[in-house]
Amino acid sequence: MLNKKNFYINGEWVAPNSSEEIKVIDPATEQNCAVITLGNKADVDLAVSAAKDAYESWAFSSKEERIGLLEKLYENYKKRWADIAEAITLEMGAPKDFATKLQAGTGASHIKSFIRYLKNFEFEKPLGEHAPNQRLIYEPKGVCALITPWNWPMNQVCLKVMPAIASGCTMVLKPSELAPLSSMILAEIIDEVKFPKGVFNLVNGDGATTGDALTSHPDINMISFTGSTRAGALISQNAARDFKRVSLELGGKGANIIFKDADPEAIERGALRCFRNSGQSCNAPTRMLVEKSMYDEAIERLKKYTENFEVGDPKKEGEHIGPVISETQYNKIQTLIQKGIDEGAKLVAGGTGKPDGLDKGYFVKPTVFADVNNDMEVARTEIFGPVLSVIPFETEEDAIKIANDTDYGLTNYIQTKDSQKVQRVARKLRSGMVDVNGAGIAVDAPFGGFKHSGIGREAGEHGLEEFLEVKAVGGWSN
Ligand code: NAD
Repeated sequence: MLNKKNFYINGEWVAPNSSEEIKVIDPATEQNCAVITLGNKADVDLAVSAAKDAYESWAFSSKEERIGLLEKLYENYKKRWADIAEAITLEMGAPKDFATKLQAGTGASHIKSFIRYLKNFEFEKPLGEHAPNQRLIYEPKGVCALITPWNWPMNQVCLKVMPAIASGCTMVLKPSELAPLSSMILAEIIDEVKFPKGVFNLVNGDGATTGDALTSHPDINMISFTGSTRAGALISQNAARDFKRVSLELGGKGANIIFKDADPEAIERGALRCFRNSGQSCNAPTRMLVEKSMYDEAIERLKKYTENFEVGDPKKEGEHIGPVISETQYNKIQTLIQKGIDEGAKLVAGGTGKPDGLDKGYFVKPTVFADVNNDMEVARTEIFGPVLSVIPFETEEDAIKIANDTDYGLTNYIQTKDSQKVQRVARKLRSGMVDVNGAGIAVDAPFGGFKHSGIGREAGEHGLEEFLEVKAVGGWSN
C-alpha cells in the first residue's frame, strides 16, 4: 500500500498536523491501495499562509518567468505521463488506454494550451482607440482554493492549476480524497520544476473538514470548484460571507437530440459518449431524444450495441469501461436503475446487479431505458453511471422544450445533416456547450454551464481570465 500521508506546503513535502487518515480504494478490486491524511484546520492554515506570502512576489513575476516554468512543467509532465495514467487507473478505475490517451492526455493538452494563451495574453492594454489614456490592467485574483472531484482527476486539476499559475495567482489544491494519487504526482513534478516556494500547495482531505476550512478561510480570495451541485451551493455560502470570487463546474443532464435525418451511427456514438468513463462525466449525453419516425430503429440498435458493450479490468488494454469510483456511487446507481424500472421505463439492456464474471469491484452494467418521460427520476437526476434514458419526440419545438426542461445546462448534443436546423436549435438550447454530429468541443473552448451546472468558464482564454481581476486606470500617461 502506498504511503501518501504528507502534504506539499511551501515548496516541500511536510508531515501533516492532522493524524486522521483514510485509505484510497482501488475500485476494480475493492482493495486498499494507498493511505492519505485528511488535513485539519491547522494544515489548511499553514498552506494558505504559504500561498499568501508567496503571492506578494509571484503576482508581480514576469510573463517570461511563468512561461519558462510552465514549459518545464510540460516537459516533466510528459516524462511522468505513464505514471499519471497508472495512478488514475488505480485510484478511479479508468482503463489503461483511456487513462493514458484521454485522462492523462487532456491534462497535457491543457498545460500546452495555457502556455499558448499566456504567450498571447495582454495583461495591460488601452481601453480602446477612442480612449488611449484609459488603461486596463489584468491582475491575478490572489490566493486560490482549488477543489476537484474524482471523475477526470488530471483534466480538472490542470484546468485550475495551470491558469492559476499563468495568471500569477498562488494556490492550495485539495484534490478528491477518493482519487488523490495523480495530483500527488503533479505536485512532485511541480517540486522538480522548482516554482518559487508557496506558489503551489497541496493538502489532502474531505469536504466537510478540509474543504470547508479552505473555502471559509479569510485569506482565500478565489475558489475554483468542480463537483456536485450540493457542495457547490455550500461553497457559495462560505464564499458569500467575504465576497470571495467563485467559479463552479457542477453537474449535467445533457440531451442528445437525434433527428430523423441524422447519420444512424449517431445512435451508437451517443451511447458510447454516455457510457465512456463508466458514465462519470458531467457533460455526458444521458438523455437521448429520438425523433418518433426513427425511434424503433434507435431502440433496436441501442439494445444490440449495449448488450455487446464490454466492461472489464481497467488494468487491461482495450476500449472497455471499468468500474465506478466507490461503493457509495455503485449503490446510488443501483437505486436509480431500480427507480427507473419502478417508474415504468422500459429496460432495453443492462439493469441492476453486476455484469457477468465481475463479482469483485464496483462494476455496473451499461443500461438503456426506453419510453422514458422527462419527469421520471432517471431523466432528471444526474446518475453518474453508464445509464442512458431514451425519450421520443415529435417536432423540433418538442425536442428543444424537453432538452431545456432540466435544472442543468452544461452540454447538449444535436445530430442532423441539416445545417439550418443545427443553427436554429443550437441558438435555443440553454447550455454552455452544444456538440453537433460528434464534432466535439475544442480543448480550449470555454467549458462551463448555465443554470445549476455552474458559474464561470474553464479552459483556454476564458479559463485564464477567470483567475484575473480587471483594473481601470484613467490618465495612464501624461
Ligand atoms: P463532491 O462535490 O462531494 O466532491 C467533489 C470535491 O469537493 C471533493 O474534493 C470533495 O472533498 C469536495 N467537497 C465536498 N463537499 C465539500 C464542501 N462542503 N466544502 C468544500 N469542499 C467539498 O462530489 P462527489 O461526492 O465526489 O460526487 C457526488 C456527485 O457529484 C456525483 O454523483 C456527481 O453527480 C457529481 N459530480 C459532478 C462532477 C462534475 O464534473 N460536474 C464531478 C464529480 C461529481
